[in-house]
Amino acid sequence: MDHKYLAELLFPDVKLTREELEERYPLRNLKEGAVVTRLAPSPTGFVHLGNLVQGLTAERMAHLSGGVLFLRVEDTDAKREVEGAIPILIESLGHYGIKFDEGETLNGDFGSYGPYRQSRRTDIYHVFAKELVEKGMAYPCFCTEEELSEMRAAQEAEKANFGYFGKWAVWRDRPIEDIKAVLNEGKTWVLRFRSAGSIENKIKFTDLIKGKLELTENEIDHVLLKSDGIPTYHFAHAVDDHLMRTTHVIRGDEWLSTLPFHIQLFSALGFKIPKYMHIGPLMKMDGTSKRKLSKRKDPELALTYYKGEGFPTESVYEYILTILNSNYEDWRRVNPDASPDDFPFSHKKMNPAGSLFDYAKLSDVSKNVISRMSAEKVCELFLAWAREFDPEFASAAEVDTEKLTRIFAIGRGGKKPRKDIARWADVKAYAGFFFDEFFSVKDEYPESFDKGDIAKTLTLFRDSYDIEADQNAWFDNIKAIAEECGFASDMKAYKAEPEKYRGSVADVSMFIRVAVTGSINSPDMYSVMQILGREKICERIDAMLQSI
Ligand code: GLU
Repeated sequence: MDHKYLAELLFPDVKLTREELEERYPLRNLKEGAVVTRLAPSPTGFVHLGNLVQGLTAERMAHLSGGVLFLRVEDTDAKREVEGAIPILIESLGHYGIKFDEGETLNGDFGSYGPYRQSRRTDIYHVFAKELVEKGMAYPCFCTEEELSEMRAAQEAEKANFGYFGKWAVWRDRPIEDIKAVLNEGKTWVLRFRSAGSIENKIKFTDLIKGKLELTENEIDHVLLKSDGIPTYHFAHAVDDHLMRTTHVIRGDEWLSTLPFHIQLFSALGFKIPKYMHIGPLMKMDGTSKRKLSKRKDPELALTYYKGEGFPTESVYEYILTILNSNYEDWRRVNPDASPDDFPFSHKKMNPAGSLFDYAKLSDVSKNVISRMSAEKVCELFLAWAREFDPEFASAAEVDTEKLTRIFAIGRGGKKPRKDIARWADVKAYAGFFFDEFFSVKDEYPESFDKGDIAKTLTLFRDSYDIEADQNAWFDNIKAIAEECGFASDMKAYKAEPEKYRGSVADVSMFIRVAVTGSINSPDMYSVMQILGREKICERIDAMLQSI
């Protein structure tokens, strides 16, 4: 077979050469050990936690080594592409702090290794496709969909392995005359790889996350170019990652099964095989067993979910770090104020089997992250969220941003800041009572207390409340009221002889707290009262006195 002739027949328009491409995309001039890697998502419109896990891993690997991270859009499957998906992808990843040095941007390509959208690289793929045909390593296949279905049915009947290989690969060794004849009829074709592999053989390979692997060789003549000339993922992966000078391929482990084919392809094309890191899936507990997070069952897989719930991006970012590197939390404890960028991220700490997603853990991480923010920042981020997701609350809260900042300042700073808020959606339950529109008495007084006692303490407090008093004087006043009404002002004394009292100062505080905030649990009462002001406090106590 004259392979050169066949190559010319199949690709008459390819004039560009491999040498020109190698020159156009020179080796990158980076320091030894610099990682060049990429995030290569398909624009399906669904940006998920897995994209972030991969993006963050790739970003840390590149930037901690003085390397490069780029964004390549893998849009070769037009059927899966969703209108507007590329901007959504770029914005979501940017929003979560994944910074690309080059690649597809909202304003087109940025960088010298583009185009970064695969749909714009067809001429490049064809150069290498033609070369493989010239070398006898690829050939056209004219099987129709029906013929391929028949092949599958026959394989099933024979209990043979599936796929286009061996005796099933009916176009693999066809004479040139046959090929010419069907080409002349105008029949469409796909380009297939001529695999020299056998499933009898194993290849040894070391993945940077999975460790040492022994994989079965690939024997299938996989498709390289589809009938419209567009490459498959496999072919585009080899060509792009070679020309873009990728040193590390970081991707989901669903690609592990086709790795033997990718290795064959790199070798057939004469490309250096990059290092691979296959990341295990995100899992969650379902009852007592673990399962993969699923798009259909688990809303928390979508990044939009975190935005809607009001988890700050910083929280999600830190949470991902905690699940990727188990030593992150210890590091954070020792370095409470450091930027997460200073954490010595290592792929060696990644769990080969994948990470476990745990909502409670995310909430904990987020409470810590929010507790370290300034009141001003909390105010700004909360309002931005509320304007979009709880406009009614936003308009009430926004009237007086100074007041809102004071609310968020309660218990902030110091060694042990309060950790009440995990997501902006929690703010209403925590601080809604500051606003009349959202205030209601949620908790009832325990039956064990006498209504007359409650009314008496509330009345005395209302009549004596002095907003100018400092915290000690304010509390001394509550203690005095307690004494006057037969409640112990000293907790020790109360605990020693509870029968001597009608209750303790803690109970009196609770009476006031429920009247003023509507609930048994609330932020520091002294600070709350400073913000609400005398008039509002009296109004709420009066309302309570009316109702008991
Ligand atoms: N487009 C592929 C995906 O979305 C990319 C895999 C890779 O990173 O190579 O799964």
